[in-house]
Amino acid sequence: MVLQDRFGRKIDYLRISLTPKCNFKCFYCRPQGDCLPEDYPEPLDRREIEKIVKVASDLGITKIRLTGGEPLLKPDLIPIIRYMAAIPGISDISLTTNGFFLARKAAALKKAGLNRVNISLDSLNDERFRSITGGGRLSKIKAGIDAATREGLTPLKINMVVIKGINDDEITDFAALTRDRDIHIRYIEYMPLGDGHSQWQERYLSVKEIMDACGSLGTLEKVEKVKGNGPARYYRLAGHQGVLGFISPISEHFCRECNRFRVTSDGMLKACLFSGEEINLRETVNDEEALKLLFHQALEFKPSPLKPPYLAQNLCQGVRARGMVEIGG
Ligand code: SAM
Ligand code: SF4
Repeated sequence: MVLQDRFGRKIDYLRISLTPKCNFKCFYCRPQGDCLPEDYPEPLDRREIEKIVKVASDLGITKIRLTGGEPLLKPDLIPIIRYMAAIPGISDISLTTNGFFLARKAAALKKAGLNRVNISLDSLNDERFRSITGGGRLSKIKAGIDAATREGLTPLKINMVVIKGINDDEITDFAALTRDRDIHIRYIEYMPLGDGHSQWQERYLSVKEIMDACGSLGTLEKVEKVKGNGPARYYRLAGHQGVLGFISPISEHFCRECNRFRVTSDGMLKACLFSGEEINLRETVNDEEALKLLFHQALEFKPSPLKPPYLAQNLCQGVRARGMVEIGG
């Protein structure tokens, strides 16, 4: 029984947060660093994750993304990937990372069965990068990008959250990276999530403005088919090898094409990033049939694609939406 909601959307993609921990403190994501309450639930262990993935695959999930927090901090990451890669129904395993530990782990990740990585990178300037991430070293990320490319963890995607007055003057520097390299640069609109959104209103920049900036480098040609394109709309600057992706969760939500569920690090199934509705999978993890029912129950929580995202409503009402680091970005 595949997963299809009442609006006809098929769910074949699962994002799993492996840990709420991270070695960075990006100011828009983890402004206070390790500030989760002491009684914050332990992350799912390897056995729990494997059971959830097995059931998800039986229900038609074919694509898995591992995220966090920082997924490369998960101790059992390699055996977890190996397990997933051995499930015949899983055709694509990807990982979103800040890239810090990637240079040393890329080869083992590839060998375990990881197909590709997305690397989050918000500045190409050492000092600024350190400031955004609360101490990160840009040289380590560059080494991670090179290692991932070498190992064939491709197409390699670089995700930049564009933040007005912080890094919007680098939009074209990132776009220029596609001139000679077959990489994807993906610009993401800043979202008011978690504790990092006090400055959101003055720092938000729309995809329209980001595209205008990219257009100053040349003609943007639409690209229709890109592997694992998700919610991004893709373009290529004329004559460039790589592509530019634009992700607009705020200015133009992509709910109509939504094909995903998320599992938080503490084992809550979420049907929508912006909804507070969550279903506890952990309590039922040893019972395959009961787990399947929970996945089907979650379909009811997929909001109408025609309604505005909950995010905007939360913001208006001053409600705190769980941060990306908790949900798994
Ligand atoms: N630590 C990994 C990383 O940074 O790639 C994975 C987790 S991180 C939460 C996943 C993505 O969420 C990153 O690309 C990050 O930039 C993005 N993100 C976090 N908070 C965000 C926000 N408020 N608005 C937009 N993107 C956000
Ligand atoms: Fe860590 Fe990723 Fe959040 Fe930055 S965006 S603090 S790297 S989880």
